[in-house]
Amino acid sequence: VEKPAPVAKLEAPEPSVVRVTNRERVIFPESAITKGQLADYYQAVSGIMLPWCGSRPISLVRCPQGRGKKCFFQKHDAGSFGDHVHHVGIAEKDGHDEPYLFVDDAEGLVTCVQMGTIEFHGWGARIEDVEKADRLVFDLDPDEGLDFKDVISAALHVRDVLAQMGLETFPMVTGGKGVHVIAPLTPKAEWPAVKDFAHRLAIVLAQSEPDRFTAALAKAKRTGRIFIDYLRNQRGATAVMPYSARAREGAPVAVPITWKELGKLDRASGWHIGDAGALLKRAASKDLVGWGRADQILPDL
Ligand code: ATP
Ligand code: MN
Ligand code: MN
Repeated sequence: VEKPAPVAKLEAPEPSVVRVTNRERVIFPESAITKGQLADYYQAVSGIMLPWCGSRPISLVRCPQGRGKKCFFQKHDAGSFGDHVHHVGIAEKDGHDEPYLFVDDAEGLVTCVQMGTIEFHGWGARIEDVEKADRLVFDLDPDEGLDFKDVISAALHVRDVLAQMGLETFPMVTGGKGVHVIAPLTPKAEWPAVKDFAHRLAIVLAQSEPDRFTAALAKAKRTGRIFIDYLRNQRGATAVMPYSARAREGAPVAVPITWKELGKLDRASGWHIGDAGALLKRAASKDLVGWGRADQILPDL
């Protein structure tokens, strides 16, 4: 009688939840928010965050000892993030490929938190073709002392100018000081054309209303004005991702909003990581469910 064949040794199942060490470590000292709370926040919002942040080259703001200590902006990694954080090779100027990071699931987001990440920033392109932009973003940066009302009217103006050119846009408060006006694009145009469009538009806006807007990089030119940061629209540039937390006081988050809502806000940092439940509910609402989605291409300018 033959013995039954030995049962194949089962691989240990992959844990569905990434282990987060030092959960009690306070990383937002002003509000006593911990690393564990930040990890739970990203786990909770992963479903509404990943449609934008997922499968896109990302850069991370890491603050391993908390936001009060040294933070750094990280674009590359050779593999220390483990299995849930993936790599996409992108050609550098000299022709060689550098591994850029991307995530495509909650485990990826939480792994980054485990590695000390607070903020997620992303390219304006997806990993399938990093040379073609899938969004335009006008990052409105108000000079110190400007009222948020001025940012609102500026964003509405940018919206109207882009709408006249046939581009639908969606606003996002950054969790910091400003608003991003975002036009999703069907990936078609490559970076030089996208940057050129954004630069020209910023110049047009600044020339039509020089008292309100500037497209000049020099800080001195920004006094009392809103800088239209068009440089988020060049190859390799990033912008903060929707629902990313910010390494700023009180753990605010970047939040997609509607144009109607924008008029009623008094600041760009009205939500924080304790608001995950409210953010999920908002994102499912009729007015926000289509946020960031439009099938459109870069017009001529
Ligand atoms: P705010 O509303 O306060 O301006 P923001 O996210 O728009 O918030 P900015 O200072 O305008 O902040 O930065 C614009 C973008 O520049 C960031 O979202 C980020 O993607 C990118 N950035 C920030 N720090 C670095 C850095 N050290 N290196 C490269 N890019 C960076
Ligand atoms: Mn900004
Ligand atoms: Mn900026």
